[in-house]
Amino acid sequence: MQIRHSLTSMVRHGAIWFALAMLAPPCWAGESADLERLDGIYRTALKDNAQALREAQAFASQITPDTPYSVRVEFLRTRIPLLQEIGQVSATNADIAELLRLGQQQKDMAVIAQATVWAAAQKTEADQPDEALPLLLEAKALAEQSANPVALLALNRAFGNVYSKLGNLEKALDHYLAAVRLADQQPRRRAKAKLDQLSNLSTLYVAMKEPAKALATLDEALKLAPEAGSQAALASLKINRGIALVDLGQHDKALAVNQEALAISRKAGLVETEIVILINLADHHLRAHRYEKAESFARQALQRAEQTGSKANAAVARANLGFALAGQGKIKEGVAHVQAVIAKYRESGSRADEEAVTAELADMYEKAGLYREATGALRQQLKLNRDIFQADQAKAISRLQEQFHAEQRQKQIELLARENKLKDTELINRQLQQSVTLLGTAVTFMSAGFVLWLYRRVRQTNRRLKEANSQLEFHSVRDPLTGLYNRRSFLDLMKRRPSQIEGGRRETAADNQDGLMILDIDHFKPINDTWGHATGDAVLVEVAQRLRSTVRESDMVLRWGGEEFLVYSPRANPQHLKGLAERLLEAIGSKPIVVGGQSIPVTVTAGFIALPYSGISEALCNWEKALQIADMALYMGKVNGRNRAYGVGPLRVAPEIALPILDHDLSAALKAGMIELTEVMGPAQTANPGH
Ligand code: GH3
Ligand code: MG
Ligand code: MG
Repeated sequence: MQIRHSLTSMVRHGAIWFALAMLAPPCWAGESADLERLDGIYRTALKDNAQALREAQAFASQITPDTPYSVRVEFLRTRIPLLQEIGQVSATNADIAELLRLGQQQKDMAVIAQATVWAAAQKTEADQPDEALPLLLEAKALAEQSANPVALLALNRAFGNVYSKLGNLEKALDHYLAAVRLADQQPRRRAKAKLDQLSNLSTLYVAMKEPAKALATLDEALKLAPEAGSQAALASLKINRGIALVDLGQHDKALAVNQEALAISRKAGLVETEIVILINLADHHLRAHRYEKAESFARQALQRAEQTGSKANAAVARANLGFALAGQGKIKEGVAHVQAVIAKYRESGSRADEEAVTAELADMYEKAGLYREATGALRQQLKLNRDIFQADQAKAISRLQEQFHAEQRQKQIELLARENKLKDTELINRQLQQSVTLLGTAVTFMSAGFVLWLYRRVRQTNRRLKEANSQLEFHSVRDPLTGLYNRRSFLDLMKRRPSQIEGGRRETAADNQDGLMILDIDHFKPINDTWGHATGDAVLVEVAQRLRSTVRESDMVLRWGGEEFLVYSPRANPQHLKGLAERLLEAIGSKPIVVGGQSIPVTVTAGFIALPYSGISEALCNWEKALQIADMALYMGKVNGRNRAYGVGPLRVAPEIALPILDHDLSAALKAGMIELTEVMGPAQTANPGH
C-alpha cells in the first residue's frame, strides 16, 4: 500500500504566513522582543521541527495573564503548524479554539478568519470535508472583506484541499491556481509561499493522472527551494516527485528521490513525513518483489507510527509488513498481520481501506497458491465493493445537501450584509435630507444653485437605493410571503444534482431515486374572491407551514408559483413517496384553516414522480420533463375531482416509444398501457361552503 502525501500538510507550512503579514506593529519593547523570538522559532522550524517545538513549549511556560494579545496570538500561530506537523490532533484543535476565542474577544477579523480556515483544514485532514466546507464559506466572507492577499491565499488553498478530498478535482484546480497567483502578491517570503502552492498543485496533477504536468510544476517549485529554505517543503516536493515518477514508470528514479526525501525528513525532525516515506519505500520494494527490504522499511514505519500514535499510518505499515513476510514464504505470520489490519479497518468503519487491503490479501493468497483462501478474500472484497458503492451514493446526496445548505446560509449572510449597507445608505440619505432642509431655511445667504445640487444628490442616492433594493429581491433565495425556498434556489439545487456529475451510475439503483411532487391548492381563487386577498395570503402561509412540518428534515419544500408548491425528497423510493403524498393531503385537508375567525376548508391536488424517471438517463428525460409529467398527473387529479394525488409509475415500454406520447398526453399513454398511475385520496370533506 502506498500513501499519497497529504495535501493539507502544505496548509500548515503556509499558514504561518498569514500570521506574520497580519501582525500589527508592536507597541512596546518587551512585546517586540517576544515577537522576534517567535519569528526565530518559525525560522528554526524551517530546518528542524522538533527543535522549534521545544522552543515553543519553553515560550509557552513564560506566558502570563499579562502577556499582550498580539504575543498570545502570534504564539498560537507559530505553535499550531508545529503541532500539526507531528500529528498532534487534539493539541492542535485546542490551540485553534484558543486562537478563535482570542480573535472573537478582540473582534479581530483577520484572526477569526485564520482560525476558521485552520479549523476547516483540521476537518479536511480528519476526512470530514463536508464539515470543513461551511467553515470555509464563513471564512470566505471575512477574507474577501479584508481583500488581504495573505488571507485570500490561505482560503483558496484550504478550498482546494476540501474540493480535492471531495473528488471535485476541477474545482480544486481552480483554487490551487488562484493560490499560485496570490503567492506572487504576498508581502513577505514570497518564494516559500509560491513553492508551497506549486507543491500542492503538483499533488493535484498527480491525482488527476497528469504526471508530466506534475513534474513540470515540481521543477518550477524546486528552483525556489534554496530561497525558501524550508526542509519540510523540500521533502514534500521530493515525495511528490517520487509519486509522479512511479506514475511515469520510472521506478529507479522514484526510489532515489524517496531516499533523498527520507534523509531530509530525518534531519529536520519531520516525523509524519518520515513515516509516509518509509511506507512508500516499503511499497516500492514490495512491487519489485524485494521482500526483505520491504520488511525492513515496513518495520521502521510501524515502529515510528506506533511511537507517535498515528493509527492510520500504523495500519498501512502493518499491512505492508504482512505482505513482505508472506513474500518471503512466512505466510502464516504475514496473514496474521494483514488480518489484524482488516479487523481494525472494519472496527473503525473504514470500508474503502478494508476493501483495498482485502484485495491485496486475495492477491497474496493467489501468489502463494492458496486458491481457496484467495477466492474467499475475493468474495469478501466484492461484497465490500458493493457496500461502498451504495454508501457512496448516500454520501454523495447528503454531501450535496450539506453543500447546498452551507451555500444557502452563506447567501443569507451576504444578503444581510448588503441589507446593512443599504440601511447605511438610507441613514446617510436621511441626514443629507435634514441638512437640505436646514440649508433651505438659510437660503437667504446661500446660493440657490448649491441647494439645487444637494437636492439632486439626494435624489440620485434615492434612485441608487431603489436599484439596490430590487437587486436584493432578485438575489433572495426565499419566498418573502411563506419563507419557503423559491423557484430560483430550486433551479440552483437541480444544477448540482449528482446525476449531472456521475453520469448514468445512480440511475440504475431503484432505492436511490429522489421524489418530486407538485401540489396546487384547490379552488384557491374563490378564497381570494370571498374573503379577500389578505386572507388568501394567510392561507398560503398556513399551507406552507403544514407542508413544511410534514416532510422530513432532509426534504425541501418550495413555492413554485402563486398557489403551487414543490416538494423535493432526496432518496425517496416510490413507496415512501406514496406515503408522503398521503401525509401531505391529510395535513392540508383534514382540518380547516382558521383565518380571522373564519374557518376555511382547504385541499390540494398533487402529482408525483421519481427522479431520474423510470431509470431513464437524464439526457432523455431531465428533471424539467419529469416535472412536466407530474404536472400532467396533477391536472388529471383536478379533472377527476381534486383533493387527491397521482403518482406516475415507471414506463412499461421502451422510452423511445413512450416518451414522445407521455411528453404531452398522459391519458393517451395511460390508455395505451405505457404507464401506470398510483392514486392517493385526500381526507373526506364535509360540505364546502365557500366554493
Ligand atoms: P384549481 O382548483 O383549478 O387550482 O383552481 P384555482 O382557483 O386554485 O386556480 P387558479 O389558477 O384559477 O387560481 C389561482 C389563484 O391564485 C389566482 C391568483 O389570483 C391567486 N394567487 C396567486 N398568487 C397569490 C398570492 O400571492 N396571494 C393571493 N392571495 N392569491 C394569489
Ligand atoms: Mg394554480
Ligand atoms: Mg389552484
